[in-house]
Amino acid sequence: AKESGRNQYHFFARKMQDKINRRVMLEHLIRKGLEKNEFEVYYQPIVDCRSNTLFGLEALARWTHPDEGMISPVEFIPVAEESGLIAPLGEWVLTRACTDLVDIHHHCEGVHLSVNVSSRQYPLGFDAECVKRILDDTGIMGHDLSLEITESILLDDDPDILSWLNGFRALGVGLSIDDFGTGYSSLSYLKRFPIDYLKIDQAFVASLNTDDDSTPLVRAIIAMARSLNMKIIAEGVELKTQLDTIESLSCHYVQGYYFAKPMPKDQLLVWMADYLQK
Ligand code: C2E
Ligand code: CA
Ligand code: CA
Ligand code: CA
Repeated sequence: AKESGRNQYHFFARKMQDKINRRVMLEHLIRKGLEKNEFEVYYQPIVDCRSNTLFGLEALARWTHPDEGMISPVEFIPVAEESGLIAPLGEWVLTRACTDLVDIHHHCEGVHLSVNVSSRQYPLGFDAECVKRILDDTGIMGHDLSLEITESILLDDDPDILSWLNGFRALGVGLSIDDFGTGYSSLSYLKRFPIDYLKIDQAFVASLNTDDDSTPLVRAIIAMARSLNMKIIAEGVELKTQLDTIESLSCHYVQGYYFAKPMPKDQLLVWMADYLQK
């Protein structure tokens, strides 16, 4: 028994070491990848439920390493956050997306852009001044942009968070709460912050019309968001049945594979031309 306990220990120690090694390696590769311009931005359409028109696009980071191949943001974003590399990466994504939006606007005026911001960027100095510089450099208007932040930011007890967020809003930039419903924020938290959009987490959309039907919960979230004058975006809509349910609950916007997967800009322009014709 003692022997097997020791083997187990070595097994876990080894696994832990592998994990640390991969993390250290990824951090190194992200730094190099930024220098070598290996990152890309893909865009996923956000559709207006009522009119079926294209409302906006969510910018999503993509990375293909020459040897490692495609690495998911689910893996590299946490490493970028822990290492502080989310600061240069986040700014790069925002700049790239605003630059691409200029071109996208030539094909379809008024399309909105939504860019993910990690709460880790707050202590790293990302702020309204930084956004203003990028807007000025690219010629994008503040009201064409919103920033998506996960609800954990609402739980941060730093009193300066509110002025950080208000700084973006002073530029006309919108604010979205991403993955809503997965954290612990409540109505009272939401009320304290200047939020324009709530993005209902995909997990709730996935369990619509299933055994543990999330319809009552989603209905409650939408009612609450509406009472606070927020717009609601349902994420991860894959099926027509999910879309029908979401629409019946008077959600404002939808996003998901049912409409389109995230795409590089050139592919998006083809998708848009096709969608706008319908
Ligand atoms: P997120 O912000 O919640 O983004 C939505 C994720 O759901 C994206 O995964 C998207 O490809 C995926 N998705 C969209 N529609 C569907 C659908 O119908 N079904 C399913 N199963 N999935 C769908 P992705 O691109 O792998 O990104 C994962 C996460 O990585 C993002 O989740 C976000 O938290 C983070 N991330 C990606 N790009 C950035 C970035 O530039 N900055 C920051 N801070 N985080 C980012
Ligand atoms: Ca997001
Ligand atoms: Ca989300
Ligand atoms: Ca997420």
